[in-house]
Amino acid sequence: MSLEEHSDSFSPEVARSPWGTRPEQLLGTPTVVREDREAPHHKKRLPAVQIKGLVKGFGEVEVLKGLDLEVEGGELLALLGPSGCGKTTLLRVLSGLETPEEGSIQVGGEVMVGEGVFRAPQLRRVGMVFQDWVLFPHMTVAENVGFGLNKATRNGGGRVGEMLELVGLRGLGRRYPEELSGGQAQRVALARALAPRPRVLLFDEPFSNLDAGLRMQVRADVAALVKELGVTSVFVTHDQEEAFVVGDRVAMMREGRIVQIGTPAHVYRYPASPWVASFLGEANFVDATAAGSVASTEWGTIPLIEPSQGRCRVLIRPEHLSLQPGGGWQVAEVEYYGHDTGYQIKQNGYTLQTRAIAHPEYRRGDPITVTYIGPPTIAYPTTS
Ligand code: ATP
Repeated sequence: MSLEEHSDSFSPEVARSPWGTRPEQLLGTPTVVREDREAPHHKKRLPAVQIKGLVKGFGEVEVLKGLDLEVEGGELLALLGPSGCGKTTLLRVLSGLETPEEGSIQVGGEVMVGEGVFRAPQLRRVGMVFQDWVLFPHMTVAENVGFGLNKATRNGGGRVGEMLELVGLRGLGRRYPEELSGGQAQRVALARALAPRPRVLLFDEPFSNLDAGLRMQVRADVAALVKELGVTSVFVTHDQEEAFVVGDRVAMMREGRIVQIGTPAHVYRYPASPWVASFLGEANFVDATAAGSVASTEWGTIPLIEPSQGRCRVLIRPEHLSLQPGGGWQVAEVEYYGHDTGYQIKQNGYTLQTRAIAHPEYRRGDPITVTYIGPPTIAYPTTS
């Protein structure tokens, strides 16, 4: 059942929201069944957003280079990539603020761009929340929340009240933005984005201006709310940890294209390329020779996920190496993080990064043996 069919079937039952009680199914969306985040292959649901062959440039610079992406109904997709790869441009094209040169966009099965169609931003029902969660300073909280509603709905007042209740700010409708804390202002901005019942909500680095403690709290609250409501959401980040914590799936973007998409556990364990592996945390790449399900390195064998043959580089995560005292390796650096300790170890020009959940046990210069203790890993074939 579509969001439109549901949107007025408001139920007065109450359920807990991150910020208090809220009317259940306020957006009228069907319950979304969350799937196992550990599942290596994400089961397909009907895409809420379907983007094909998107091309967008500014002058000579081509930013989106034939980008394909599908966002499933009700999922929270983290769009992760380095600075300048085109994340914001993608959101702006999706919301209608920019016009692509090529490609098509469908939202909820309707064509927004393509086949001679370009639907105006206000007709897409695609909401956007910006980095600074800007509110209109001269409007009250209620006026801010009602901004995107048509006159009749706004004047009725009920929708604005529901939204304020939803984000735990009931009774603050008459305040002005300057009378709110930073966290409250963000909730108002979220209520404003949710009020017109968007089919898709886009967040552009929504948490990056917050300090560490508040950031974790706000992102957990926002994620819990949009997931509970089942609003299809895309949020941009260049922080791998944030993408993993918040995203149902992670879409890895590089130079104007999506290069891999999957659950956090899947993309971490099965990165499609060494570049993806390095972007998603610390990674060692070790020269090896594969023979079936095992790769031999100079210092030991590594189990492989997929059988392979010949010269390759195997991906070894630092936490999958164990150190024992004595041997041909030497500790080159010790980095103590409190919750764990990183060691850089060297042997015959080789350097490996390792990580152990323990206080420092070794010091610089200590002789060491290293053993692979991780699960089967990935081998990337080498051409030479
Ligand atoms: P960041 O993580 O730093 O925000 P991003 O991945 O969101 O980066 P975009 O903001 O989409 O990247 O920008 C991609 C490229 O397009 C950059 O090289 C940027 O300078 C360029 N660009 C974006 N908007 C415009 C514009 N309006 N005019 C000219 N160039 C632009």
